[in-house]
Amino acid sequence: MSLPFPLIQQIDALLPQTQCGLCGHRDGCLPYAKAISEGEEANKCVPGGQPVADAIAQLLKRPLLKAEESVWDIQADGRPQRMKAIIREDECIGCTKCINACPVDAIIGSGKLMHSILSDLCTGCELCIPPCPVDCIDLVEDTEPLPTATQQIEQQDDLRYRYYAHIQREEQRRIQRKGPIVRAAIDSELFVQFSSYLNSVPTIQRAKKSAEQDLVADAKTTIELAKLRTQIKKLEKQLSVRDNPAKREQLQQLNAQLDALQGDA
Ligand code: SF4
Ligand code: SF4
Ligand code: SF4
Repeated sequence: MSLPFPLIQQIDALLPQTQCGLCGHRDGCLPYAKAISEGEEANKCVPGGQPVADAIAQLLKRPLLKAEESVWDIQADGRPQRMKAIIREDECIGCTKCINACPVDAIIGSGKLMHSILSDLCTGCELCIPPCPVDCIDLVEDTEPLPTATQQIEQQDDLRYRYYAHIQREEQRRIQRKGPIVRAAIDSELFVQFSSYLNSVPTIQRAKKSAEQDLVADAKTTIELAKLRTQIKKLEKQLSVRDNPAKREQLQQLNAQLDALQGDA
């Protein structure tokens, strides 16, 4: 069955492209856009907050729902406070693990050398924090002026582009097996299809995998566990502020996934 790409594209265009997985879709905004097109509720994007939930509901002519709560305060534009990550560079041991975890390639550095975050590119998704073995990455508030609507779209387009380039490189890296494997394989099939539909992103090509490489791609890796733990921690924080049956169910599902992964690890 062919996917409704025009609709998925319209939904994806409204999502922040932070690729943080807080909506419950580990591989980022596009899988959530697809799920929404198939009927999933459109209020789960935490960084997008109420404006994004409302925009998608209006697009799809669905009832407006209260957006998932963030642990951060709400900014003047109705979205949660934007954050940025920074590395305490004198503590960095140059292990390179954060580089592969960053979905938008905002971290630079190489083996055994200090790493830095390109602040303009960092979305504050927090995905680099759990893999850091020395816990030297902090989150700080983004104090830049809020983007205009046009700037917001430009930023999202840029982040989408960078994420697809990242996925393409990850595909190749798994074949060549260079550098540490710190995250589970992104399920690239949807991205492969969507990138051939969309002109504005790099085309993703599936790399051929040997049986051994499939094993590596399927491995339950450190980052996968860490991402689940981060999501669980955030949901627990959100639930401690206000009870929410849907979030409780999501928490149960994440805990079940964590148990399953830990059992396999
Ligand atoms: S920004 Fe994060 S929570 Fe929002 S749709 Fe993208 S991956 Fe999901
Ligand atoms: S540097 Fe860290 S917080 Fe910033 S975008 Fe990359 S993974 Fe996310
Ligand atoms: S994961 Fe931490 S220690 Fe390793 S390179 Fe990144 S910031 Fe440095």
